[in-house]
Amino acid sequence: MQSVKRSLKILGVLLLLLVSTMVGIALFNQPKALNDATATIALKNNDLAAIESSALEHLAQASTYRIVGYDGANNDSINHGNILAFHAWLRSTYPMVAKHAKWEIINQHSLLITLQGSSKQPAAMFIGHMDVVPTPDSNQWKHGPYKGSIVQDTLWARGALDDKNVVIGLMEAAERTLNMGLPIKRTLIFGFGHDEETGGKHGAAEIARHLIQNKIPVAFISDEGFGVMKGIVPGLKNQCAIIGLSEKGFASIKLKVEQLGGHSAWPNPENATAILSKGLSKLEHHQFESHLENPVRGLFSEAAPYMDFGYKVLFSNLWATAPLVKMVLQGGEKTAASIRTTHVTTILRAGNKENVVPPSAEAIVNLRLFPGHKITDAIKEINAVLDDPRIKATLYSESMEATPVSAANGDGYDQIKASIHAHFPETVVVPGLVITGTDCKNYTAVTDRMYRFVPFEFSSANLSSIHGINEYITRKQFSKGVVFYMDLFQRL
Ligand SMILES: [Zn+2]
Repeated sequence: MQSVKRSLKILGVLLLLLVSTMVGIALFNQPKALNDATATIALKNNDLAAIESSALEHLAQASTYRIVGYDGANNDSINHGNILAFHAWLRSTYPMVAKHAKWEIINQHSLLITLQGSSKQPAAMFIGHMDVVPTPDSNQWKHGPYKGSIVQDTLWARGALDDKNVVIGLMEAAERTLNMGLPIKRTLIFGFGHDEETGGKHGAAEIARHLIQNKIPVAFISDEGFGVMKGIVPGLKNQCAIIGLSEKGFASIKLKVEQLGGHSAWPNPENATAILSKGLSKLEHHQFESHLENPVRGLFSEAAPYMDFGYKVLFSNLWATAPLVKMVLQGGEKTAASIRTTHVTTILRAGNKENVVPPSAEAIVNLRLFPGHKITDAIKEINAVLDDPRIKATLYSESMEATPVSAANGDGYDQIKASIHAHFPETVVVPGLVITGTDCKNYTAVTDRMYRFVPFEFSSANLSSIHGINEYITRKQFSKGVVFYMDLFQRL
C-alpha cells in the first residue's frame, strides 16, 4: 500500500513537472511582430485608382474565354479556338508585356512568357492555368458563368478564383511594373498551362520539359494554392496565409475479383460481389498511419505563438502532445486528410443482368498520399488489409507520388512571406500541405523550391464557390492581389 502511495506521489510530481514545463515553453513562445516588412513600392493614389478601375474588368473579359477541362475528352481540340483567341486577347490587353517579353507557345496551347531581368540570378517563375472546370449546374448561377458579369464591384464567373485570377493578376502586375518604369532585376517567367484541371500533361508538363531541354535555370516557382483566410487553423484568431510546400500524391487502385458466375436462383455465397464487399468493408475500417511531420508540423509550430493560450500550450509542445493533436485532427475530414494518406472507393462495377451472378466485380479505390508515402507501399498495405488472394490489386490509372517538401525559408519563400506581411495586416504566415492537386507536380524536375499561395483574402463563401456555383471575386480582393504581385516582383 505504501509503495502504491509513493508511486502515485512520484507520478503526480512528474505530471506537475510536465505540465509546468509545457506551460513554461508556451509562455516563452512569444509571437514576433507581424507586418515587419514594408512595401517595396509606394503606389500613388492615381496608380491604385487605375488598378481598381480596370483590373477587374480585364479579369471579367478573360473569364468569357471558355477553356474547359472535361475528364476523358480531347480538350485540346474542344478548346482550340478559344485558347488561341485568349492568347491574342492577352497580347492586345497587355501591350507592354507583349513588347518587352519573349512569348512562346508550348505544345500549341500553353504559354511561356519571359521578361528578361538585369540580374544574372536564376529566374523566378510564376505559374497559373488558363483552363477551368465545367459548370454542369450553370442554370443555378446568379449570373452566367461565362458572361463576365460585374455587379456592384463583384465579378461572378467561372475562373474568378481558379485560376484566371492568378493569370490576369500576374499580367496586370507585369504590365503596370513596365508602365511605371519600375526595375526588373530578376528574370520573371510566366508559365500558363491550358489543362491543369485534367492533370497538366499537355501544358505544364510540356513547359517543364521545354525549360529543362533549354537549360533555363529557375530558382523557385510560385503557383496557386491557399489564400489569406481566417478560422482555418484551430485556436488562431488572426488571418492566416498558408504557403503550400508540397502536394499529396494521387493513385487509383483497381480491386478485381473473378469467380464463376451462374444462376441467381442457387448462388454460391463465395461469389465475386460478396468477396469484393467483404474486402471493401475491411478497407473502410482501416486508416493509414497519421504523421505530424512537415509541412504540417511546421504549420502548427509557426502558428502556435499567436494562438489562444490552451491551444498554444498544446501546439508549442508537440514533443509531448503529438498523439493527442493527431487524435483531434483525425476528427475532421480536411484535417485528417492533411496528416495521412486517405483512401475512398469511388467506382464500383459488377453485373449487368438481375438474375445472373456476375463472374467479376471490381472497385476503384482512390488514394491521396502523404508526402514520403510511396504508392507501392500503400498497395502492399492494402493487400495486407484485404488478406485475400482472390482480390487482385493493380494500379488503375496514371498515378503521381506526393511532391517533395520545399524548404520553408530562403529564396522564394522569404520574399513571398515579406510581401504578405507588407500587404495583409496582422497575418500569420505558415507553411502547409496542399491536399488537392496543382500544376506544380509537373515541375518537380525544374526546381525543388515550389510555393503554392495566392495573394487573395478568401472568405468561406469564396472558398465553397471554387469548382462550385457562383464563383466570385470582389474588386478589392482582386486589386490587392495585383498590388501584391507588383510588390513581390520588386523584392526578387
Ligand atoms: Zn486551379
